[in-house]
Amino acid sequence: MWTAWPTGSCTPRETAEPSTAIEPLVSLPADVQQDFPLARLTTVRTGGAADFFATAGSVARLEQLLGWAGASGLEVGVVGSGSNLLVSDEGFRGLVMKLDGELAAIERDGLRVVCGGGARLPQASARAAKWGLTGLEFGVNIPGTVGGAVRMNANAYGGALGEALEWVDVVTSGGVDRRAPEQLGFSYRRSDLGRGEVVARAGFGLAPAEPEAVKQTLADMRGRRKAAQPSGIKTFGSTFKNPDDPRAEGMSAGRLLDAAGCRGLTVGGARFSPKHANFVENTGEATTADVVALMAEGRRRVHELSGVSLEPEVQLLGPVDAEGLFS
Ligand SMILES: Cc1cc2nc3c(=O)[nH]c(=O)nc-3n(C[C@H](O)[C@H](O)[C@H](O)COP(=O)(O)OP(=O)(O)OC[C@H]3O[C@@H](n4cnc5c(N)ncnc54)[C@H](O)[C@@H]3O)c2cc1C
Repeated sequence: MWTAWPTGSCTPRETAEPSTAIEPLVSLPADVQQDFPLARLTTVRTGGAADFFATAGSVARLEQLLGWAGASGLEVGVVGSGSNLLVSDEGFRGLVMKLDGELAAIERDGLRVVCGGGARLPQASARAAKWGLTGLEFGVNIPGTVGGAVRMNANAYGGALGEALEWVDVVTSGGVDRRAPEQLGFSYRRSDLGRGEVVARAGFGLAPAEPEAVKQTLADMRGRRKAAQPSGIKTFGSTFKNPDDPRAEGMSAGRLLDAAGCRGLTVGGARFSPKHANFVENTGEATTADVVALMAEGRRRVHELSGVSLEPEVQLLGPVDAEGLFS
């Protein structure tokens, strides 16, 4: 059994038994909820409960929560829109935070758009278009928050977060630290932000444009996405990263899975989408264990066929029996 934390790294657990809830060493701050179900905070809708859950609407509140978790010896996790997140069926033995209030705001400052880490990226793209600003269009189809997009170095349709991003305010229990994109260790679908480093705000430098032209670009992008990907399903989007392996011969993860016969493959309530083989969908009653078993089988088949080892894109929260999938 392995414990995988939000960074995706894995450390051995001492016991194979499901852990019981951890007691905090210092008294709970206001409005911290206990035994909070997390499945509904994710787009795939699987997984158990967090021992502790709280929302943070200001930097001061974030610092308070992180300080309390540190003093209590609790692990911390952040949930954005949960669109790239797989929560353990056993839940999370620590504090999960979600940003709201001023940390989910979208504001204009001249040619800059300043977003809270909890602001929804498609909303930020649409707001920038309305203000006649170009540079955030890439986010229109990424159903995550600005904080999740920074953590995951999200991009789409050739546009990349790093191109418009000017700075990020990262909050830890030690305070706020403003970082430039070069300090975030961006590479394909990752940054080097660690556990306990929360993106509270981000500033994007944009350029003036005709609002109607930017809105039209967004509409075109929405149309292209609708044609290419399944909609209305419970999924975390692309399951595996596109491989950088010559044996893939330029094929995407989806094409490799398709070639390996994974389209429509089902384990329990989880299946590779019949429309897009790299999307796992929860057909109704899937558990995280079903999702992980399906991913492991897809990866095994692709490796058998091509020698390529696919790497998961989805992030983990809590202990997941991953059979080497996330190592
Ligand atoms: C239908 C669909 C389509 C998608 N298309 C794309 C696409 O085109 N391009 C793309 O790049 N991705 C895509 N994704 C994946 C996903 O939307 C992105 O990775 C997104 O950036 C995740 O943001 P989130 O807020 O949902 O993060 P979550 O899933 O909630 O979390 C992901 C990781 O980010 C961390 N995190 C979240 N918020 C913060 C914060 N404030 N500070 C620090 N860490 C934080 C979490 O702890 C976790 O480790 C798609 C997903 C779906 C379901």
